[in-house]
Amino acid sequence: MARKVLVTGGAGYIGAHACKALARAGFLPVAFDNLTTGWADAVKWGPLVQGDLMDRASIDAALADHRPVAVLHFAALSLVGESMQDPGRYWRVNVGGALNLLEACAAAGVRNFVFSSTCATYGDQDGVLLTEETPQKPINAYGGSKLAIEGMLRDFGPAHGINHVIFRYFNVAGADPEGEIGEQHLPETHLIPLMLDAVAGKRPALTVFGTDYPTADGTCVRDYVHVTDLAAAHVLGLQRLLDGKGDGVFCLGTGRGFSVREVIEASRMVTNREVPVVIGDRRAGDAAALVSSSTKAGAELGWDPQHSTLRQMIGDAWAWAQKPGFSE
Ligand code: UDP
Repeated sequence: MARKVLVTGGAGYIGAHACKALARAGFLPVAFDNLTTGWADAVKWGPLVQGDLMDRASIDAALADHRPVAVLHFAALSLVGESMQDPGRYWRVNVGGALNLLEACAAAGVRNFVFSSTCATYGDQDGVLLTEETPQKPINAYGGSKLAIEGMLRDFGPAHGINHVIFRYFNVAGADPEGEIGEQHLPETHLIPLMLDAVAGKRPALTVFGTDYPTADGTCVRDYVHVTDLAAAHVLGLQRLLDGKGDGVFCLGTGRGFSVREVIEASRMVTNREVPVVIGDRRAGDAAALVSSSTKAGAELGWDPQHSTLRQMIGDAWAWAQKPGFSE
């Protein structure tokens, strides 16, 4: 029988892609999701448990029912802008939810934990290439809440024997190249889907958040990584834990940053259409540049992000956004 893995946030954008990758690798992903931002129809590779990380009993029940060999923890609030407006919610839900989950894992004897952290834990570092060793100085509540959970994991390891892999994601983009799942946030706040909505005429324009950053063209620079590559890293991280190779922290980026203007230009090449753009103010909490050095995950996990070109990420997102029945 396939080994089960509990995937919190398994009905969400990244979690669902991870479920697909887990199933491909021979695991049975059990999606645990409260469906506030996730979609039941994105859960295709295993059962859906509708539960909430703020409700400890629902976590205990899921762990008792399924006895997973590991937990992959994706479920979280994840919007930088929103976290600046309502920081308390981010601290309560992200940190409180993770604490409930870790305590439930400790009680149930779950020994392997893969955590979705973020490059937002680094803050604004003057454009240096970020490595796993770069000091973390978050400038928004989202990054702050994720950094707190990284600390929690380091404390739970020795006390409860929970081994962990921490992945610090850079900017996740694209959709399943086979078209089974894709990005679908309500409301949408991310650059690439908003840009493609503007291209398709579903929105009047894309607003560029700031053109006065200390970057080559004045717009923010991010390191974009394809969601399918990111999902593959999770299977490698899980395997590392199951092989008993111990804790690890890995940045998941490509080592190459693109400005908002460069993303817009790439979109024009992929779609053959102009992006209607208006220039707006900076968005609170945004760092000027966040780019990963990206060598450790390759060296230690054998991670090879093959899909993470702007052309493929935008192309796959464009194909997904044009699927019939895609909700707006
Ligand atoms: N961005 C933008 N207009 C938008 C949405 C995002 O200019 O409507 C910029 C944002 O300032 C950031 C980059 O695009 O520099 C990526 O933002 P996104 O929200 O996609 O991801 P984040 O970096 O917040 O995780």
